[in-house]
Amino acid sequence: MVERRKKRGLLLLGGLLLLGVLVLFGSSLIDRYSGVPVLNYHGIEDHEHNPLMLGVADFDRQMAYLAQEGYHSITPKQLLAHLEQGAELPSKPILITFDDGYRNNYDNAYPILKKYGLTATIFLVTDTVGTNDWYLNWQQVEEMRKAGFVFGSHTLNHVPLNDLSQDEIRFQLTKSKEGMQWKLDVPIDYFAYPTGAYNETVGELVREAGYKAAFTIDFGRVKVGDNPYALDRIPILKTKSPFYHFYTRLNFTTLMGKAKLAKEWVLGPSTLTL
Ligand SMILES: [Zn+2]
Repeated sequence: MVERRKKRGLLLLGGLLLLGVLVLFGSSLIDRYSGVPVLNYHGIEDHEHNPLMLGVADFDRQMAYLAQEGYHSITPKQLLAHLEQGAELPSKPILITFDDGYRNNYDNAYPILKKYGLTATIFLVTDTVGTNDWYLNWQQVEEMRKAGFVFGSHTLNHVPLNDLSQDEIRFQLTKSKEGMQWKLDVPIDYFAYPTGAYNETVGELVREAGYKAAFTIDFGRVKVGDNPYALDRIPILKTKSPFYHFYTRLNFTTLMGKAKLAKEWVLGPSTLTL
């Protein structure tokens, strides 16, 4: 009798475990067919001991994968039209973004993206543009813009907005936008939060400043119904196995998001400055 009960208990436990695994993997498999992935890169540079600086060959392999798999790079405008008016997107849409505006985006990433017929959106820290060799200059920005790249603001000097007064936030948002519009003579409609820091007030100020959407570094895909001022992305970092990191984050976003949360719960939040 006791034995039978034990057996039944074990079966139940096994069943529950199996169900849990199925729910987790099922939700991840659905990822492949739901939501738009917005990849977030920073620099593409060899020999830098920094998880934000992905090696050139590693980036090439990731873009080759996107091209082979039939992904189509889209613009934030296309993404927003899809979210707000249900506009149709090309098959396998993907938005590729870079934060901070490093010069290596032009030197290293741009030729690779061109090779595979992909474009990207770059968020600039406007005070740094053309001020030192580590960052893009306006000629490089203009050349890429003419090739279909989109530029957005990442503030004047990369200050986390949550730390500022409302007036200071407004100043960062409007001055960076106006500066870019004056230099490039096109509307600047998109914003990315430095270090990913935002809250409801910050999001509202971004909207008031005239931006149409803003990107966080919260892990996930963009889905219809999301707040356009808090759009999730998928940060891609340099790790010991960069392709595996990229592949799993792209194809199993939900599962990887859960794994990341669990890791942070155990080890504490990451201290990376994005
Ligand atoms: Zn940044």
